[in-house]
Amino acid sequence: MDALTMLLDDPSLRVPAADLDRYSTDWSRDLSGTPRAVVRPRTTADVASMVRECAARGLPIVPQGGHTGLVGGATPSKDGSEVVISLERLNAIREIDPVNFSMTVEAGCILENIHAAAAAEDCLFPLQLSAQGSCQIGGNIASNAGGLNVVRYGMTRDLVLGLEVVLPDGRIWNGLRKLRKNNTGYDLKQLFIGSEGTLGIITAASLKLFPKPSQIETAFLAVDSPDQAVALFGRARRDLSDLLSAFELLPRRGVELALEVMPGLRDPLSGPSPYYVLMEVAASGLVHLKGLVETFLEGAVESALLSDGTLAANGAQAAEFWRIREGIIEAQARRGRHLRTDVSVPISSLTTFLDAAHADLLRAEPDVLPLAYGHLGDGNIHFNVVPPSGLSEADKTALLHRCEVVIFGLVDRLGGSISAEHGIGRVKRAAFQERSAPLDLDLLRRIKAVIDPNRLMNPGRMFD
Ligand SMILES: Cc1cc2nc3c(=O)[nH]c(=O)nc-3n(C[C@H](O)[C@H](O)[C@H](O)COP(=O)(O)OP(=O)(O)OC[C@H]3O[C@@H](n4cnc5c(N)ncnc54)[C@H](O)[C@@H]3O)c2cc1C
Repeated sequence: MDALTMLLDDPSLRVPAADLDRYSTDWSRDLSGTPRAVVRPRTTADVASMVRECAARGLPIVPQGGHTGLVGGATPSKDGSEVVISLERLNAIREIDPVNFSMTVEAGCILENIHAAAAAEDCLFPLQLSAQGSCQIGGNIASNAGGLNVVRYGMTRDLVLGLEVVLPDGRIWNGLRKLRKNNTGYDLKQLFIGSEGTLGIITAASLKLFPKPSQIETAFLAVDSPDQAVALFGRARRDLSDLLSAFELLPRRGVELALEVMPGLRDPLSGPSPYYVLMEVAASGLVHLKGLVETFLEGAVESALLSDGTLAANGAQAAEFWRIREGIIEAQARRGRHLRTDVSVPISSLTTFLDAAHADLLRAEPDVLPLAYGHLGDGNIHFNVVPPSGLSEADKTALLHRCEVVIFGLVDRLGGSISAEHGIGRVKRAAFQERSAPLDLDLLRRIKAVIDPNRLMNPGRMFD
């Protein structure tokens, strides 16, 4: 079968029009488009021939994983011109090498399935995020996802040993090494990590594995303020022998909303507190983790770094604590379109940022509900804003934009980033370009021009 037939006629590769919704509309349901076609290749060779065919016909391509990205990178444009290439059928685990602590997987593997396959070999792949039941490793790599364990294991960029990529002209770049050390020339794979599908289609990856923790302690801790949480974090990093794997900040209002929407959850502590920290410490091997964590918590109480707290008695209770964190996302989603930000500042500036952002925002827009939560241990906060109900769509858009200007302005003043992990896509393109130095943009455009001279790979995402 030639490439033209595969692309346009083979019903086993092409999604029928009636089933297009999940490829056209993103997870949040805020963004949707109209694909020219959606195709689902089964092999890297299929991807290459589809890309060659699109290139020959001048058809723009949108690589798509689980479509859980939050910046419109994988959503086709509304004009019906773009071909969506979904990686969902490229989902084989090609190899697990527990001696090398690595695995090689195809891009369409769902993140949760990668966790399970690694665990079966007593290993851990540490990238964890609430979307892990739907997002794919190719999408994680293309967006350089962060998630809950960055404080210990780094971003996706730090977890990739090698890549296989179909370039915009259909050639297959084989950088699928599984070496920890390799200093031969430019590290080309890093160009594709975080490139949001603008330079090529990732078809497979070699990933770093770690020993699977045999002991995990999860604590739900009450703190009076973000300042206290930052101080507690500093102490935890020093006292917990680098075993800290997650350190999340949750506001009281967020916890209340989570308890409302998640059935069966209860408040872990007896009284309310303005803020909470959800902390996870994990170890494999000979450490006596529970004793270490208890000693740390006793010290923190004596130093007045926390006012109350509880350690999960078992895995089920730990999972309940994490469901509270997930419930904050769910509660916002149920309130419809809202402002999602994903900003970072130096951890030493977090308190200044949170205090000023709340004050400035409520002074300018007293009717909104700010919800600031997230990865305190990485200086990365989702400072989200839920608008009051009853606004027209146009008024909501204008209000959310004004809120974003306030938040991003503060981030700029504190030397932060407007996108710590979700990327730029189309949603943050204008804000990204406004903040980029001319030399930065010039270099980005030159790299794009060398690899994708006809600008057919995810056009209009990240920059014009
Ligand atoms: C509930 C929820 C929680 C989240 N939590 C986090 C979090 O904690 N940390 C975080 O970083 N992100 C988080 N995200 C957003 C995050 O970016 C994604 O969930 C995930 O990394 C995207 O994977 P995906 O497979 O859904 O990619 P998609 O949404 O399909 O695509 C994302 C981008 O990558 C490109 N792309 C996809 N697959 C490929 C490929 N094979 N080759 C080249 N380009 C490709 C797309 O074109 C697009 O630009 C969250 C999202 C949700 C819905």
